[in-house]
Amino acid sequence: MVRFDIMTLFPDLVDYVLGESIIGRARKNGKISVNTYNIRDFSEDRHRRVDDTPYGGGKGMLMMAPPIYNCYESIINEQRNSGYSPDKRRVIYMSPCGSLFNQKKAEELSGYNNIIILCGHYEGVDFRVIEEIVDEEISIGDYVLTGGEIPACILTDCVSRLVPGVLSDPECYENESISSGMLEYPQYTRPYEFHGVKVPDVLISGHHANIENWRRESARRITREKRPDLMEK
Ligand code: SAM
Repeated sequence: MVRFDIMTLFPDLVDYVLGESIIGRARKNGKISVNTYNIRDFSEDRHRRVDDTPYGGGKGMLMMAPPIYNCYESIINEQRNSGYSPDKRRVIYMSPCGSLFNQKKAEELSGYNNIIILCGHYEGVDFRVIEEIVDEEISIGDYVLTGGEIPACILTDCVSRLVPGVLSDPECYENESISSGMLEYPQYTRPYEFHGVKVPDVLISGHHANIENWRRESARRITREKRPDLMEK
């Protein structure tokens, strides 16, 4: 069981994305838990402000440290008061300045009991709160988004499907693209013929060794064509 605590200015966005399909079911079945917290609820300002202009000038607004720290502290206190004490906790700030997220990192994070995620917005977050509470900054790619909510959903989804019981069969991810070290072979389902194109004969032959061989060779060919860097590894 992995518990995710997500600090954000837009909890509805995160709840909606992580409330459907496999991840939504995993939450209902208690395989994972996802709690969202609105940082604005922890503002010390009577207008519930959470951002201000950066010292030294410059465009845009920065998320202030106190509401974020208060939100973090409230999560930790709530955990303690309910008797929850994870032996492995990681606090992550989703940030374009972080190390790049990949399947290996997802595997590593699936070994934690509690993952607390901070989603930034606007021009980002006051550096002091990052220094004080964050263990690790993670980026989902070399591009800049408007907020950390979508990156947080990506990380939560990817880590969750590695948690035992979330997918029906561990083979689902062991043979998959990237996890296996290669891209996946082409897959087909009914109808047998679509727009004049038939399913490859070998797949309906019933000959398991030949099917395995075809899949392995197809995966190699596709990986060589699309991701030669993986093939080299
Ligand atoms: N001024 C920041 C900079 O130059 O690094 C960018 C801030 S960005 C507009 C606002 C927020 O979106 C960030 O605080 C972060 O939480 C999130 N974000 C944007 N791009 C991201 C990425 N590639 N990976 C993870 N989080 C990202």
